[in-house]
Amino acid sequence: MNIYGQTLEELENYFATKNQKKFKAAQVYDWLYKKRVNSFHDMTNIKKEIIISLSQDFSIQKPKILQKQSGKDVHKYLLELNDNSKVEAVLMLHDYGNSLCISTQVGCNMGCAFCESGRQKKKRNLEADEMVSQILLIEKDLGLRISHIVLMGIGEPFDNYDNVIKFIQIINSNKGIDIGSRHITVSTCGIVPKIKQFARESLQVNLAISLHAPNDKLRSRLMKINKVYPLKDVIDAVKYYIAQTNRRVTFEYIMLKNVNDGFEEAEELAKLLKGLNAYVNLIPYNETSHIDFQKTSESHIMRFYDILKKNHINVTVRRKFGSEVAAACGQLRSSYEEGK
Ligand code: SAH
Repeated sequence: MNIYGQTLEELENYFATKNQKKFKAAQVYDWLYKKRVNSFHDMTNIKKEIIISLSQDFSIQKPKILQKQSGKDVHKYLLELNDNSKVEAVLMLHDYGNSLCISTQVGCNMGCAFCESGRQKKKRNLEADEMVSQILLIEKDLGLRISHIVLMGIGEPFDNYDNVIKFIQIINSNKGIDIGSRHITVSTCGIVPKIKQFARESLQVNLAISLHAPNDKLRSRLMKINKVYPLKDVIDAVKYYIAQTNRRVTFEYIMLKNVNDGFEEAEELAKLLKGLNAYVNLIPYNETSHIDFQKTSESHIMRFYDILKKNHINVTVRRKFGSEVAAACGQLRSSYEEGK
C-alpha cells in the first residue's frame, strides 16, 4: 500500500490496530502534506518504532515527471507511474487560481469518437495515491499551490469510482492538502448508476457531464456510452443529482464543425435543458492529428451561444488553453508512445 492513498480515517484505524493514539494519523498527514517530506525517516517527532512499522507497511514512492511542455499560462506534464505506465496532467493558470487537470486511468475504454485518450484502451485504473501524487509533484516542480482540481484528464472517473472518491476525501481533508470541495470538479461521460451513487455521497464537489449532443442519434455517433445510457436516462440521473444535492450541474459541449454546432442543435439543446439548474460550457475543440473532426470558428461558437442565451440557458465559453502544447486530453501520451 502507498501512504498517499490513505484517508485520514484509514490511517487512524491503522494506528488503532497498532495500539497507538489516533492523533498520530494527523501528525503523519502534517509531514506528508504540510511539510512535504519524502521519507518516513524525516518525520522527526514520531517515535522510531512507529517509523519502522510505517516503512514496513507503506510505500512512500511517487511517480516521475517524464516530460514537460510549457506555454502561456499552461504547463503540461507526462508522468511515469511505478509500473512504467504513462499519464498526463495539465496545470492551467487562471486569474481565479491554479487549476490542475488530472488523469484517473491509464488509457480509457469509453471510446468517444473525438477524443485522443480513447485511442489507447484502458490498461488499468489509477490508485488514489497516484492521483494525489500528481498534485504534490507539480506543486513542487513549479513552486506554487494548486487551488482547483478537475478530473478531466485521461480516463473516465466513474469507471474508477472508489479510487476517485477516496482521492477526493484525501485532498479535501483540512489536515492534508485541503482543497475545498467546491474547487473540485468531476467530469463524466454519463455513467448513469454512478451519477446517482455520487449524488448520495454528500460531497460538495462539482459535477460536469460531457453531453456534446442534444439527441440520441448524434450522441450515439460521438459517444459509444450513449448506447448503454441514452440521453433521457442521463437527464433523469442529473435531475436526481440536483434534487439530492441542491447543486448546479455543468454540461460540457465540445463544438465540432458541421457535426453538432448547427443552430437547430442549439435550439434542441435549449429545449432539452430547459428548467434544469444547470449551465452549459461550450468547449472549443482541440484538433488532434489522428482524428478527423474540426473545430468550430469562434464567431460561430458565439452565434450558438447567443441562441442558448436567448432561450434563457446559462452558458459560458471555455477559455482555450494550450493548443500550442498539445493539450488535448491524451495527446502528449500518444505522441510519446508513438514516437518510441
Ligand atoms: N471521461 C470524462 C473525463 C475526461 S474528458 C468525460 O468524458 O467527461 C474531459 C473533457 O474533455 C470531456 O468533456 C471530453 O469530452 C473533452 N475532450 C476530449 N477530447 C477533447 C478535445 N480534443 N478537445 C476538447 N475537449 C475534449
